[in-house]
Amino acid sequence: MTVTAACITWLVFEGLWLVLRWQPNRHARKTPVRYSGRGLRELVLMGASLTGLGIVPLYYAASHLLHAGTRVLTFADYPFVPVLGYLGVAAAAASLWLFYRTHRDLGQNWSVSLDLRERHTLVTTGIYAAVRHPMYAGFWLMALAQVLLLPNWIAGPAGLIGFGILFFGRVGREEEMMIAAFGDEYRGYMRRTARVVPWLY
Ligand code: SAH
Repeated sequence: MTVTAACITWLVFEGLWLVLRWQPNRHARKTPVRYSGRGLRELVLMGASLTGLGIVPLYYAASHLLHAGTRVLTFADYPFVPVLGYLGVAAAAASLWLFYRTHRDLGQNWSVSLDLRERHTLVTTGIYAAVRHPMYAGFWLMALAQVLLLPNWIAGPAGLIGFGILFFGRVGREEEMMIAAFGDEYRGYMRRTARVVPWLY
């Protein structure tokens, strides 16, 4: 694998992710929101994630592929290790599978931010029986794939940093929101499951 192939792979996976999300997004939005924890804080967190997982790596990959004159990130390039690139492909494929499974299991309950919808149900089955935040596990895997595929000290880790800001800034509040909505049902679910990695965290 070459850097060019790795950049193309990265763009393809980002594109597939958008395709996977298109339909669930249209579907879930039909159900009205009854409570929302959105606000400036959520906007900043989502902006950080979009920048780290989207804008920075897209800029890096596009400028590499187009040989654009403004390759401002070039100074942070390091030699590409093909084996890491293949591991990155595996991580990105696993992450897409997680996005597919989580959207299928969450259905109408999904939202891009902290929302509770009308007739919101607590999902604890399917992939949600394994961990409480499998979709965020998918984002961590995507961020890991970015590090493995893009040999640049800024564009590579940007996803881990950007998504890390969203994750640690949100996950506690999301769980508080779920406890407020579902009480002991969610507390029991918390006792049975880990957040992201089964048995570990
Ligand atoms: N944190 C989850 C879901 C991300 S989508 C994951 O990583 O898989 C964010 C929305 O999902 C939140 O607004 C919340 O209302 C909803 N949500 C989170 N966990 C849920 C669950 N177990 N059942 C139903 N809805 C859930």
